[in-house]
Amino acid sequence: MSLLDRLKAQIAQDGPIGVPEFFTRCLHDPRDGYYAMRPDLGAGGDFITAPLVSQMFGELIGLWAIETWTRMGRPSSFRLVEMGPGDGTLMSDLLRAGKLEPDFLAAAEVWLVEVSAPLKVRQAAKLGDAPRWVGRLDEVPVGAPMILVANELLDCLPARQFVRIKDGWAERVIGLGEDGALAFGLRGLGKSADTPIPDLLIQPEGSIVESSPAQAALASDIAHRLAADGGAALLIDYGRAAPEAGDTLQAIQGHQKVDPLKTAGLADLTVWADFPAVVAAARETGAKAGPIITQGEFLTALGIEARAQALATARPDRADQVARQLDRLIGEAQMGALFKVACLTAPDLSPPLFEDAT
Ligand code: SAH
Repeated sequence: MSLLDRLKAQIAQDGPIGVPEFFTRCLHDPRDGYYAMRPDLGAGGDFITAPLVSQMFGELIGLWAIETWTRMGRPSSFRLVEMGPGDGTLMSDLLRAGKLEPDFLAAAEVWLVEVSAPLKVRQAAKLGDAPRWVGRLDEVPVGAPMILVANELLDCLPARQFVRIKDGWAERVIGLGEDGALAFGLRGLGKSADTPIPDLLIQPEGSIVESSPAQAALASDIAHRLAADGGAALLIDYGRAAPEAGDTLQAIQGHQKVDPLKTAGLADLTVWADFPAVVAAARETGAKAGPIITQGEFLTALGIEARAQALATARPDRADQVARQLDRLIGEAQMGALFKVACLTAPDLSPPLFEDAT
């Protein structure tokens, strides 16, 4: 029975489910979840990410990591952690840039946090057996400083969705429509005090506001370690830099938007990263965090234009391709403005570009 049919049967028996439960089943159901069974990153697959657009992305993050390590006092051992490493391209490019500073490479103990069995196979093919793999951040041993990188991981962590109704808010749920297909519906919130409605201006009726306990919990976990052991974490994703309303649940298959309720487990499912909530959760847990900058600002400040120029000079036949990649990564109409970068950092550290973290 397909995941869609199993979800329908479950809902027919037990009633509607929240968006986070639906989201998690679609991505991680052991028999049919997208990441469990058929994650397909790349130009010929379902979606493309910044490291797959160009090697420049991972290389510049490598330079950022070397400088961060230097400002940490050049520890002789630290955990270099990537969460959600995809096909391993970002880490591979980061480590190649790391060769510029052999002491950095020698000190780095590489840990990959990954839940997807098929992607672990792709990561091992690219990175060999030097990394250690775990399924959760808390399985990376504490007791050493950490530099953590996660690109497009927050968007895999689900959000609850709340809808403004006449006299308050209701939660968006997934039930069965009259035709027996999955359909969105509403569940009253009652008076429960734990409803995490973000503190927003009054929204017009029908507005959707998202709140992601899972993203905030990850930020807290990371912040807790940074406060205890030192280091910094770079989180990159498409998302909001200030609280705002909007339904950002999106399913992508073969680079096309598809209906999430018809494609359970067959498509990648994402929500926007909620950077204000991530930064707030990190600060509450004792780390410094922020500011939230755009990917365009981040890569430009790290020198992506000079790097593109060097690549184009080395391979004039590829100059046009490099120019297109550069525009894709930093162009305002492309990934440059929609994608944001936030840094969580130990209270005593000032990583490059995030010296103003508070
Ligand atoms: N960072 C990569 C891949 C992004 S796709 C890139 O930029 O190309 C999302 C990645 O996060 C995949 O590796 C996926 O398997 C992983 N992932 C999804 N949910 C996760 C979770 N709950 N914990 C750890 N990794 C997760």
